[in-house]
Amino acid sequence: MSAKIIDGKAFAAEIRGRVGAEVARLKAEHDITPGLAVVLVGEDPASQVYVRSKGRQTIEAGMNSYEHKLPADTPEADLLALIERLNEDPAVHGVLVQLPLPRHMDEAAVINAISPAKDVDGFHILNVGRLATGQKAMVPCTPLGCLMMLRDLHGNLSGMEAVVIGRSNIVGKPMAQLLLRDSCTVTIAHSRTRDLPGVVKRADIVVAAVGRPEMVKDEWIKPGATVIDVGINRIPAPEKGEGKTRLVGDVDFESAAKVAGAITPVPGGVGPMTIACLLANTLTACCRIHGLPEPEGLTA
Ligand code: NDP
Repeated sequence: MSAKIIDGKAFAAEIRGRVGAEVARLKAEHDITPGLAVVLVGEDPASQVYVRSKGRQTIEAGMNSYEHKLPADTPEADLLALIERLNEDPAVHGVLVQLPLPRHMDEAAVINAISPAKDVDGFHILNVGRLATGQKAMVPCTPLGCLMMLRDLHGNLSGMEAVVIGRSNIVGKPMAQLLLRDSCTVTIAHSRTRDLPGVVKRADIVVAAVGRPEMVKDEWIKPGATVIDVGINRIPAPEKGEGKTRLVGDVDFESAAKVAGAITPVPGGVGPMTIACLLANTLTACCRIHGLPEPEGLTA
């Protein structure tokens, strides 16, 4: 293997440490404790795991965590009423509604009901527009984590060729906006892209956010490129025993690591950065709401 393996677990721990130190300072100097409210509708097992993990890490960082669990058949109006209460609650600086929502709910309407100032997921249409127009925004956590890793590795990204594979509102599009903001030359690829291997081969930076196990092959990658693998895919692992599974990314890690200059593993790459950035966003939202200076290096 020749690539540097980017240790997202260690980097996320460092970010959580920095957030924790800033939270302690806010408490000591201003008597303010940032608070994050997470709303879960229904019993999706993966969402339950994420919500538990978010709550635990919020408390470990010294912040207040408020969990609201609603049954799957909750009327949308009740969810909107809860969001309204959280928007007005001065103890709450971040409001996150765990996605996906049950089918009877209008996801866009729910997200856009969150106060943009407390929208720590960065999915509110105002924050999307602010990011796209270069204004101060709340930035989606997963792309923010990717950007932090890239800045940490390269310092200045200006002029680099970046290819983002995937155009979702959650990862691909905001990732492309952030790279553009840092003056990369950005290409967004998707399922209709012609000659994806040729497009990827141009890139100094590849961000794969596709959801297809080990799709990106070593021959697609320009030697020395930095590869950020956002994908989380569970595949069968008969070598571990019958019915066992393992997690892989969207990049064929073993082969790609022989060509890339740096690469994130799955698990242990982008994944841990996402919740660390959620904590960073909650701190940023709290500072902005109180008109206090934002800690450096924890936002885009
Ligand atoms: P979506 O399914 O919303 O988007 C996938 C994108 O990949 C689409 O734009 C789609 O194109 C594109 N795509 C699909 N197939 C191909 C193909 N064969 N060639 C090129 N492009 C293709 O997924 P998300 O963005 O939500 O998530 C992507 C991955 O990242 C998933 O594995 C998810 O689990 C993971 N993820 C990880 C997070 C983390 O914390 N690490 C957080 C969020 C997501 P088109 O638009 O044309 O259909």
